Amino acid sequence: MTPVDVLVAGMGFAGSTSARVLADAGFRVHLVDRRPHIGGNAFDTFDAHGVQVHPYGPHIFHTNATRIAEFLSRFTQWRPYEHRVQAKVGELLLPIPINRTTINRLYGLALDEQGAADFLARAREPRALLATSEDVVLNSVGRDLCEKFYRGYTRKQWGLDLAQLAASVAARIPVRATDDDRYFTDTFQCMPAAGYTTLFERMLDHPLITFETGVGFETMRQAVSFRHLVYTGPIDAYFDHCFGRLPYRSLEFQHEHRPGHALAQPVGTINYPNDFDFTRRTEFRHLTGQQHEGTTLVREYPRAHGEPFYPIPTAGNEALYQRYKARAAATPDVTFVGRLAQYRYYNMDQVVGAALAAAEGLIARLPRRRT
Ligand code: FAD
Ligand code: UDP
Repeated sequence: MTPVDVLVAGMGFAGSTSARVLADAGFRVHLVDRRPHIGGNAFDTFDAHGVQVHPYGPHIFHTNATRIAEFLSRFTQWRPYEHRVQAKVGELLLPIPINRTTINRLYGLALDEQGAADFLARAREPRALLATSEDVVLNSVGRDLCEKFYRGYTRKQWGLDLAQLAASVAARIPVRATDDDRYFTDTFQCMPAAGYTTLFERMLDHPLITFETGVGFETMRQAVSFRHLVYTGPIDAYFDHCFGRLPYRSLEFQHEHRPGHALAQPVGTINYPNDFDFTRRTEFRHLTGQQHEGTTLVREYPRAHGEPFYPIPTAGNEALYQRYKARAAATPDVTFVGRLAQYRYYNMDQVVGAALAAAEGLIARLPRRRT
């Protein structure tokens, strides 16, 4: 095979973004992914019923970074979509993030915005130090709302109590005294019009880019001559788990198809914080806008073992990651980027941002040898 400048292991947002930026700068890039498709966890496809689905869980794009939206806009058109989620608490379906409507309907009140803010001020248990997710939740909504909306969901999702998880996990979910029931408030909230896989196909469509799927980089590294490796898999696996295994949380997805044109859910996702073994159920057609005779929903069952989907943000895991990070820093011919390689609970836009920065850094220091 023709020598390349850069070999990229993994073809999700981290690997594909890095590859495109490097190719645009004149470097020859080859990518491999051990899975049989491109796109990493953002891969989408059509199921047996013709419904567009996300096999690795529902992916909603949102960002406040103009630069990231502009970069991706080179490869896709967009369909505006604002995600909404309701939580099933008892017999009620209530907006999450908790907002004025949630409080009024849960407690049978008729508070205005100021009233809801006063309610939360009375309910909250102020904490001087927000070290854990429990601190964050109690500090913002107090105990009753914590038990009804957060404790059970978190226990299911992570197999841990809120008090064992870093503050940053629960801090992803805001609390509002307004009626805003959007899950995200980012300035840019859109889905790729033809789907993520099409976006990736266009991103990788470059004369200096070649790729292979269904191939691990461990086998490819012998078969191809390269000057630098961009690695986007789990960082502990790269170093043969030399300091011990970094824990990742996994999920099992159960899909369900229902005939008929009507949508099954009032919003894209319903969360089940207290009942059932699954955390949430998402109906894809809300996200994709697809018109179809039939609808497909997915339930997410958290698992301790399986594909690594989530880094688990605890103090102990962060300390272990820092040891791997130090080894990575001492390995200058490899760039580690992405959710698994940086052990960061990154959204897609954050991964794109990290990959843009990593690739630009690499362009600055990799001697130019146009192949
Ligand atoms: P990945 O997409 O995991 O890609 C890494 C790739 O590397 C994989 O394809 C893997 O097969 C490959 N690989 C690993 N090791 C090797 C090897 N040795 N050789 C070859 N290939 C290898 N983000 C959002 O912004 N919005 C959302 O709504 C959202 N929802 C999510 C829902 C779920 C259930 C999950 C799990 C994540 C969600 N995310 C969401 C996060 C999003 O999936 C990630 O931020 C993003 O996809 C990470 O991209 P990545 O390239 O770092 O990793
Ligand atoms: N969370 C919760 N109840 C909810 C929604 C979220 O307790 O109804 C907590 C839970 O710990 C979850 C975290 O907030 O893991 C982050 O939620 P998010 O929806 O951002 O998770 P993701 O989409 O990344 O799985």
